[in-house]
Amino acid sequence: MAVPVSQAWTVATYVLKQKLTGRKKYPLVLMLEPLFRCNLACAGCGKIQYPAHILKKDLSPEACFQAVEECGTPMVAIPGGEPLLHPQMPEIVAGLVARKKYVYMCTNALLLKEKLHLFKPSKYLSFSVHVDGQREHHDMSVCREGGYDIAMEGVRAAVAAGFRVTTNTTLFDGADPNSVRAHFDELMTAGVESMMVSPGYTYDKAPDQKHFLGRARSKKLFRAILSNRKKTWRFNASPIFMEFLMGKKDLRCTPWGMPTFSIFGWQKPCYLLQDGYADSFKELMETTVWSNYGTESGNPHCANCMVHSGYEASGVNYTFGSVKGLLQTAKAIFFSSYKDDDAKKLLVEWKPTHGPLVKITEPVAVKQESNDLQEVSGD
Ligand code: SF4
Repeated sequence: MAVPVSQAWTVATYVLKQKLTGRKKYPLVLMLEPLFRCNLACAGCGKIQYPAHILKKDLSPEACFQAVEECGTPMVAIPGGEPLLHPQMPEIVAGLVARKKYVYMCTNALLLKEKLHLFKPSKYLSFSVHVDGQREHHDMSVCREGGYDIAMEGVRAAVAAGFRVTTNTTLFDGADPNSVRAHFDELMTAGVESMMVSPGYTYDKAPDQKHFLGRARSKKLFRAILSNRKKTWRFNASPIFMEFLMGKKDLRCTPWGMPTFSIFGWQKPCYLLQDGYADSFKELMETTVWSNYGTESGNPHCANCMVHSGYEASGVNYTFGSVKGLLQTAKAIFFSSYKDDDAKKLLVEWKPTHGPLVKITEPVAVKQESNDLQEVSGD
């Protein structure tokens, strides 16, 4: 099972409740960004280009809890920045666990091993480790030699300590599907619970603008990767979202499905774009002109987007939207190998095209020592 039964049940009953009450636009996962600073400076990242005074700011635990209560989602993802640089992260995580929220703390795992003792294993807490591929590819993607080995060491330490560990892999142009499949094998062998994979987003502010995937190339790449699946692979994404990536399903973006809260407030309209901020979740939902977003809107910023944060909730909504959706999802779960001879040919004929490493400046991360963190207990 890719997620614990209790989590699947909580999410399913939450979504059904939204449907039964006739709520058309509902959030599924809160993207809680308590800081923007990071100890990496990845070429494809659009989050770390803020000036130093912004990078130094943290959301307080109280502000995080207030956002979670306002939004009411059963799941909370904590991206960033690097959450482990936040001095009160254990307190934030413990508070969310106490509220019975399923927390995915997204981390590059550079500090995971040394800070593991500050957290307590719980069915509500998963470390979602950012690993973009096998050693060479990941190191190139995060612009740090040795980054892969440290991240995997963190993964193994967290698994050994009894934590739920998932991974998230972001793919850009030049990704080799054969290597990504081998990477999946490595992750499963390391004991991760399940994996999430998504194309990257074309951030205007990212240092590397050359390696973002267009929609057609994304579908071809994901068809090669996700067809002919191995039985050992487990994914923590909606099966319908994964069919969307493979070009088997058309979905419309639901940007309200994963609303983002950061030091600036509620971000309009989604995790990826910044068209202003709202002071409350209610204001976000009521004042955002949602028709201006999504591929069908003609908004150039949305043209190539197939990113998890825009379409995972669409996949879940599709599942619970009709009997057909439920049946298709059940089929996708029970017959998940997606046998495809043409996809096999794609793997054989794929030509690796590693681009040159992107030269970027040192991260403007503000390193904080582990003793800044106070030991807290979770559930
Ligand atoms: S298509 Fe992508 S960028 Fe556009 S609103 Fe949806 S998630 Fe955001």
